Amino acid sequence: MVRPTWVTPPPPGRGRVLHVNATATGGGVAELLHGLVPAQAAAGIATGWAVIAGDHDFFRTTKNLHHLLHGTGDAGALDARAVAHYRAVLAPQARWLAGQVGPGDLVALHDPQTLGLAPALAAAGARVIWHCHIGTTRSGVDGPALVWDTFAADLAALEGVVTTLPEFAPPSVAAHVVPPAVDPDGPKNRPLSPDAVEATLAATGLVGAHPAPDAVATVEQDRPLPPGARVVAQVARWDPLKDMTGVVRLVPDLPDDVHLVLAGVDPTEIPDDPEGLRVLDEVRAERDAMRGPDRDRVHLLLTSLRDETRAALLINAVQRRADVVVHKSLEEGFGLAVTEAMVKRRAVVAGDVGGIRRQIDHGRTGLLVDPTDRSAVLAALRHLLAEPQLRRRLGAAAADVVAERFTMARLVRDYRTIVDRRTSRPAGTPLVATPTAEEAR
Ligand code: UDP
Repeated sequence: MVRPTWVTPPPPGRGRVLHVNATATGGGVAELLHGLVPAQAAAGIATGWAVIAGDHDFFRTTKNLHHLLHGTGDAGALDARAVAHYRAVLAPQARWLAGQVGPGDLVALHDPQTLGLAPALAAAGARVIWHCHIGTTRSGVDGPALVWDTFAADLAALEGVVTTLPEFAPPSVAAHVVPPAVDPDGPKNRPLSPDAVEATLAATGLVGAHPAPDAVATVEQDRPLPPGARVVAQVARWDPLKDMTGVVRLVPDLPDDVHLVLAGVDPTEIPDDPEGLRVLDEVRAERDAMRGPDRDRVHLLLTSLRDETRAALLINAVQRRADVVVHKSLEEGFGLAVTEAMVKRRAVVAGDVGGIRRQIDHGRTGLLVDPTDRSAVLAALRHLLAEPQLRRRLGAAAADVVAERFTMARLVRDYRTIVDRRTSRPAGTPLVATPTAEEAR
């Protein structure tokens, strides 16, 4: 029988918080849970984390659900067959999970991949919330309404929904507003000396002559990054909405000494993201088509998650090596990669979309740009590259905001608020009682 696997088995008993998502590695939700689950346990909350299984067609449908919630996506592809297959893949896993939980447990289902588990878990007596990390603030798009309609019975089984922005929540369910968080002391973010940064990058062959035999990433480049070159970096999945292709296309119009590093997990290692290879191939084709001197300035870093700690340290080093971090997302629920750059005092140029608007205060903690306006993105990058003092000022203010609003300690408190709130509010009722930190703002 297909069944979920425990990343962190929960302790026996009841009164536990059990997270369920679709992958233990790759992407923001996995990153978040790697921080949140141990932090909740350390705070005295009995916590577990399970990952569901799925096949190619299941993940193609769930990726389409992501895109529909972001206001893109293919409404026609969410047909009866696709939905039936989604339910068939989840049914045995729902039965298995239902046997693991009971009254007093709270199950947090993450993103659309797991939403269909809600009725079975609620029937087993657990409280069920859906933590949806994605959405759009654009009006006039049909995707979200189609998803709410298709999953009406699943949404009805929920006690509440957790979203980064109130606009991301379905209208039929009580919503808690909880932005994600980073762990400033974990390998992804902890301070690294300039020497450590250099050595970590050298081990991949990004700088220096040869990669180490056990390199944690593959580099695709014509020549290594020259010492002292200025660097613009984007760290993201190879997903159309991250617009890595659009970022490569900026290179010919960046100053001649500026190099671009695009870092993303090797798509063959992320089971729930079937689009990765296509996007990576598009980026490769864009680089191949460039004239030599521009191509020399593009460095693709395909990271491997086989050694998660070293992979996290590598991303840490890339973000620290960058003079400017770009995050040219066309839609974003919340860009953890943006917060990771901010905690490292980097100056960030990011798409003025979705949850990124909650992360960056334009002109104070970074620059927000219309990601579809190539000249605006270029102008922001050129401006920051030319102004080291401005970069320092934005970076310092950015780190302060992360310390105040986006730490794991705050996320643990927010989850505790939700656990303690124990609501049986009718659908659609507004936020109440003890607000989460974000609601209180
Ligand atoms: N990431 C990583 N290695 C990579 C590229 C990305 O570990 O090669 C991480 C990145 O540091 C961040 C997460 O993947 O923690 C991406 O989260 P984000 O919220 O930015 O986007 P999502 O993938 O959830 O849409």
